[in-house]
Order: sequence, then structure tokens, then C-alpha cells
Amino acid sequence: MSHRLFNLKNSKCFVPHGHNEYVKVYLASEGEDRLDGSWNMSNGFKALKSTWHNWIDEAVDHSMQLSNLDPLLDYFKENEPENLKHTLITPGDPTTEILAACFYAKINAFLERDDIDMRCNRVEIEETPTNTVIFHGDPEKAISVDHYDGPEIPWWKRADMSINDL
Ligand SMILES: [Zn+2]
Repeated sequence: MSHRLFNLKNSKCFVPHGHNEYVKVYLASEGEDRLDGSWNMSNGFKALKSTWHNWIDEAVDHSMQLSNLDPLLDYFKENEPENLKHTLITPGDPTTEILAACFYAKINAFLERDDIDMRCNRVEIEETPTNTVIFHGDPEKAISVDHYDGPEIPWWKRADMSINDL
């Protein structure tokens, strides 16, 4: 992926650059999926894995991650609208912190849509070997949309392939 942190002017992070990020998600059973004594597999695990991997590989992998307030977005709108679908847009700078909270909300949206009796309770994103962010808790409380002019249900809460609200 690539990103830039628009609020860190005069920093290396302001210049668009890339990372090989590793994402780990942890799921917990909601308690209603008793193992059947034969297959002994948690419900929907295979389906979820394919949905999640598909979203990561098709939408997130190689995305350009930008703040909704970054003027680079105007460049893409005007000059390369075809590339907007590869732009992941976060409310404010696309730090690993906000990404982890958005991913947490997204995977739970997929689980709910697919009626799978599990919820994500932890997301880890390793941005570099010395920088990992762990999120657990309520993404609703963690993500501020004060400066985000999106729909009522933004992309991170929708169970679809979206990575922005354009
Ligand atoms: Zn970076």
C-alpha cells in the first residue's frame, strides 16, 4: 500500500510512500455455534475467510491511502478518475491507527451481513517491523467523522468491496 500523512508536513511521512503491511484479525465466537462433534468447524469460517481475503486482495492491496482532506484527491478526481477506485480514504490522515479501527468495523460488517455468529475482537496491523498497531474496542468511539463529509453509513461500516465513499 501507499499513503501519506498530510498533517505531518516537513516530515518523510508527508511524501507519498509505501509499506508492506501485515494485517491480522482475531475472531471470537458469539457462543451459539456449538461444534457438531463431527466436522467441528466454526460456522461460516471458510466463507468469511474468502470474503475478507477478497476485499484485502482486490480492494486494499496496492491502494493509495489518503485523508479525505488531502488535496491530492482533487488531482485524482481531475486527472485520473479511473484510479479513484484504488484510493482508500480515511476520515483524517491514513495512519495505521485509523486503518486498524476501520478494518475492525469492516470485518464486523461482513460477519453481520453473512449471518456468521462471530465477531472480530482485535485487529493488528504491522506497518513496519518496529511499528504495529493493535485495535480492540468500539470503532464508533475511535473514529472521528467530525471533518468527514460522507454518507450516514461510511465504507468501513458497509459490507461491500468499497474503500471510499466517492
Ligand atoms: Zn508510512
